Amino acid sequence: MLLLIPGPVQTRPEVRACMAEDIAPWDEDFRAEYAAMRPRIVKIAGGVEGQHVSLPLPGCGHMIIESAIRTFVPAGAKLLVVRNGGYAERLARLAETAGRVVVALDGPDDVPMSPERLAQALAENPDCGHVALVVSETGTGIVNDPNILGPVIAQAGRRMICDAVSGFGALPFSLAAHPECDVVVFTSNKCLEGLPGFGFAVAPIVRLEACRGQAGSWVMDLADVYDHALKNGFGSFRFTPAVQALRAFGKAMEIYEAEGGQPARFARYSRNRDVMYAGLKALGFTPYVAPEHQGPIIVNVYQPVDPNWSLEVFQRKMKARGVILSDFSSTKKPSMRFGCIGAIGEEEIRFALKQAEAVLAEMGVGQRAAA
Ligand SMILES: *Cc1c(COP(=O)(O)O)cnc(C)c1O
Repeated sequence: MLLLIPGPVQTRPEVRACMAEDIAPWDEDFRAEYAAMRPRIVKIAGGVEGQHVSLPLPGCGHMIIESAIRTFVPAGAKLLVVRNGGYAERLARLAETAGRVVVALDGPDDVPMSPERLAQALAENPDCGHVALVVSETGTGIVNDPNILGPVIAQAGRRMICDAVSGFGALPFSLAAHPECDVVVFTSNKCLEGLPGFGFAVAPIVRLEACRGQAGSWVMDLADVYDHALKNGFGSFRFTPAVQALRAFGKAMEIYEAEGGQPARFARYSRNRDVMYAGLKALGFTPYVAPEHQGPIIVNVYQPVDPNWSLEVFQRKMKARGVILSDFSSTKKPSMRFGCIGAIGEEEIRFALKQAEAVLAEMGVGQRAAA
């Protein structure tokens, strides 16, 4: 089966094979294996060993995002959320539920947040100490680039929290170049092409030390993850981890490094995106995002207005032909997403486009444009 969803992504057989063994997480051999992964994670984030630290936490992306918010934003404090998409809305909900006060900077969901608007919002809200942003908005495919917005946040003397879940490892980012960044978070199962089960935060050590004890949660306190490692070693866990997923992530990092790291992955996904974007347009679909704002992670198109159209039927028929697509959209106007990430290349994208063409013909969907 070919997964064309924005996570969990298609993985390589060597990665999946790591799940086939029983492992004791506290065994000394596995401790060494895990401890060796942590500096590699820091490196992928462009951090500096000794200044930044990786903080793995079993669970999904939402869990590591909430952990980041809880750890760095004090309870009751205000957080400016760049809210221009479905995942940003989720981030805002996580923050509010955790008792942080969200000040939303809303924007259209088909263009990245502009640095000018962010600067203005920061000037109007001097009491927002942090800005949280979703880097690659998985609902639409736009990218709020921290390399553009980070300097605005630094200029205003505020701190940045990056939900980099969907693009981490593929989009260029270096923690060392962003002293305003408190934390960048991501998961095992997106652009690093591992299996689901782990979230990761990478953060400056000085900030963790300054933020001890304010998470209001033991499980989600990243400062406690750090303190535990200091006390018990960087190969130790606080609680039972998704240990096979972690081993698989180690294998996935090996493959990532061998492929050529971030530049290579960015290039492969960009190529996937180009083929997908052009192919969907050629089929008659209307892209949700203009080419100049289209990121390399997912391509989103409007659902056709044709009376024969049904996302459910399309999704089911594509699955019968070996291609799994998302069966929901998170945009206000009905759309659908095609993932460009995972252990796939342009042949797989072309295969999926061919199946889509056949399915549309079978369904009798002639009117494929948005309106
Ligand atoms: C996938 C994703 C998440 C996390 O999703 P989970 O289902 O909790 O793993 C968060 N933010 C973005 C931008 C994502 O793409």
